[in-house]
Amino acid sequence: MKEDYYEILGLSKGASEAEIKKAYRKMALKYHPDKNPDDSTAEEKFKKAAEAYEVLSNADKKARYDQFGHQAFDGNGGFGGGGMNMDDIFSQFGDIFGGGFGGGGGFSGFGGGGGRQRVVKGSNLRIRVTLSLEDVANGVEKKIKVKRKIQAPGTTYKTCSTCNGTGQVTRVTNTILGRMQTASACPTCGGAGQSIDKKPADADANGLKVSEETVTVKIPAGVVDGMQLKVTGKGNDAPGNGIAGDLLVAIQEEEHATLKREGDNLHYDMYVSLPDAVLGNSKEIDTVTGKVRIKIEPGVQSGKILRLRGKGIPSINGYGKGDLLVHVNVWTPKTLSKKQKAFFESMKDDEHFEPKPESSDKSFFEKVKDMFS
Ligand SMILES: [Zn+2]
Repeated sequence: MKEDYYEILGLSKGASEAEIKKAYRKMALKYHPDKNPDDSTAEEKFKKAAEAYEVLSNADKKARYDQFGHQAFDGNGGFGGGGMNMDDIFSQFGDIFGGGFGGGGGFSGFGGGGGRQRVVKGSNLRIRVTLSLEDVANGVEKKIKVKRKIQAPGTTYKTCSTCNGTGQVTRVTNTILGRMQTASACPTCGGAGQSIDKKPADADANGLKVSEETVTVKIPAGVVDGMQLKVTGKGNDAPGNGIAGDLLVAIQEEEHATLKREGDNLHYDMYVSLPDAVLGNSKEIDTVTGKVRIKIEPGVQSGKILRLRGKGIPSINGYGKGDLLVHVNVWTPKTLSKKQKAFFESMKDDEHFEPKPESSDKSFFEKVKDMFS
């Protein structure tokens, strides 16, 4: 028995478009194969969620599913067998994580309901792009050299004789819903409706040849390590009148020298000398938009967390920005000169140096608790 698509996404029937999108985004990030290497359970969940989203995000398929359940797609070239492949899943991501990627059809040649003309799509290309934390915070335009297959100039096509140019062959099958006529891609031309007539010597069997191109990829602020963005039509060309595949850009995040990312928040460890902690001072620290000067109040305690609102990473969904959390660490010297030692020794019995925490001096555990509540 196949699992209910709503249940897979942790939703109940009647969930809104926004809820479906949100639920899928969460699942996709959680079970992303880059985050769960060699974990077949996670991969299975990742695929199931993608399949559920593919149906529930499409008004037409959703209506059919709501009425007939999984039977709506049985015997119809639906998802019966292997489900979606990884390329199809990743090509959804541009639409999910948004901002200028994808938009286009995406699922041509998939599902096949209703005998639509199959469009042959070129294969997708995948590349990895390494971004600095500053790139992630501010968004960036990257020019990437890509070797993609393009239609070789001089290639000509003729109408396929097996399917007479329709790109499909029809077949009648008996199903529980009665006799059904299903269309499948023509085995001779692969659904293109054309076959190669003439091609230049440097072209491959499909009339394609490799060309190096520079593709400009606009990366929105807030992307996450492991995320894949789609640049529609910048994969390999398809032969004949097919459409080009997509370029899938995997995001890799470089580690920053001083800032650590945690979701949309950033953390900075600030070391303060003993005299600065006692007397107060100010210090320059790194942020993703340049340096800022931070005031150190006289008597600052080690473990204090200063929150710089909005100095973190913008949310990929466009809802606000994270914060920069500056952790104060008072640095105690391990060795002292004779003079320094004499000074501290003379203070040893001074009542003023006895710790007297006030209620506002929260312990480390209380601070951590506050941060997550
Ligand atoms: Zn054909």
